[in-house]
Amino acid sequence: MPGLVVKPRARILHGHDWVYASEVLKIFGEPADGDVISLKDGKDRLIGSAIYNSKSQIVARRFSRQRQDLDLDFFKRRIAQAAEYRKRRGIDELLCRVVWSESDGVPGVIIDRYGNNFVLQTLTLAMDQRKELIVQTIVDLFGEVTIIERNDAPIRRAEGLELRSGILRGEPRDQITIELNALKFDVDLWHGHKTGFYLDQKANYALAAQYARGRLLDCFSYQGGFALVLGRRADETIAIDVSEEAIARVRRNAERNGVSVDARVGNVFDELRGLERLGERFDTIVLDPPAFAKNKAAVPNARAGYKEINLRALKLLRPGGTLVTCSCSYNVSEALFAEIVYDAAVDAQTPVTVVEKRMQGRDHPVLLGVPETYYLKCLILRKLA
Ligand code: SAH
Repeated sequence: MPGLVVKPRARILHGHDWVYASEVLKIFGEPADGDVISLKDGKDRLIGSAIYNSKSQIVARRFSRQRQDLDLDFFKRRIAQAAEYRKRRGIDELLCRVVWSESDGVPGVIIDRYGNNFVLQTLTLAMDQRKELIVQTIVDLFGEVTIIERNDAPIRRAEGLELRSGILRGEPRDQITIELNALKFDVDLWHGHKTGFYLDQKANYALAAQYARGRLLDCFSYQGGFALVLGRRADETIAIDVSEEAIARVRRNAERNGVSVDARVGNVFDELRGLERLGERFDTIVLDPPAFAKNKAAVPNARAGYKEINLRALKLLRPGGTLVTCSCSYNVSEALFAEIVYDAAVDAQTPVTVVEKRMQGRDHPVLLGVPETYYLKCLILRKLA
């Protein structure tokens, strides 16, 4: 088997599963992009099997600590194991991320399930080349389901892959309806964010709903996950998103569930300032912005952005009220996020307690050793009276 030898300081020797181009000591056996390769340390010891792509900054991603091929048997074992874990954890099997990339031992493969509709992403070259095996695995494990390919994620470009979406099995449908906390949502599997729905926040909607009451403000609402699930417990709900399309979805979803939501198109930064000027007050506020820090260089600006919205939200909150504040920037660590929120509380001159510390749902498991898999932080805070 061809492969590569890593340098002594390579992070893969310290628990990570990736090899960056700068960490390669030498390449042997002329691997082709997309091949399975052996990884070795400087003493010729095998440190695992990996997928190879010279076009990517991450030239190798380990998927096994032994010698292992990417065959049907492998995919069946890994995907069945991932599904079994979710089932055992009591995660709704019909609405969850069934497979999540490195965390489930298949780097670059994402499979989200919406009832009988499966949405597949193959974000690494090697997995993209083996798409048919993965499709076969899904059919073998789950029966004749519909499988959609949502390979329009720009991250594919880093692997030299083109962007595409299409139907891989079954009958395509434009809209599907999912049920969540006894609410019905229209979901667009073809164009919606991620694969159509923020499955990583699903458990947080339900948890945060326990704290919702009075006047609710959902900032960065997208199609209204927080607004609707929390809105049922509130007296009045305002949702804000900059996307007209997202706000149209909030309105449709609110209407079909009989939840009343005042859905507004606007920039949250401006809207929060406007609400402050008007002297408005809320009992529950949600902040779930897009990743402000897409890379390390963006952290200082991201910090300022997170601080501003958290500060304004804390000011708009009535004493005794709840702030649900999230960050999905991997580059803003849990510790840094807590520090930013603390800064905001200091500036707002209000005592705040941490009621719950949450993260992405358990169908997006964090792989220790690959810190990139821990990205979503969610704090539930109480402004003291
Ligand atoms: N809370 C949502 C997900 C939010 S995704 C859910 O659970 O479904 C982030 C959203 O922020 C996107 O819908 C995007 O349109 C919106 N957005 C980005 N920048 C914004 C801004 N400055 N003001 C308002 N909305 C913004």
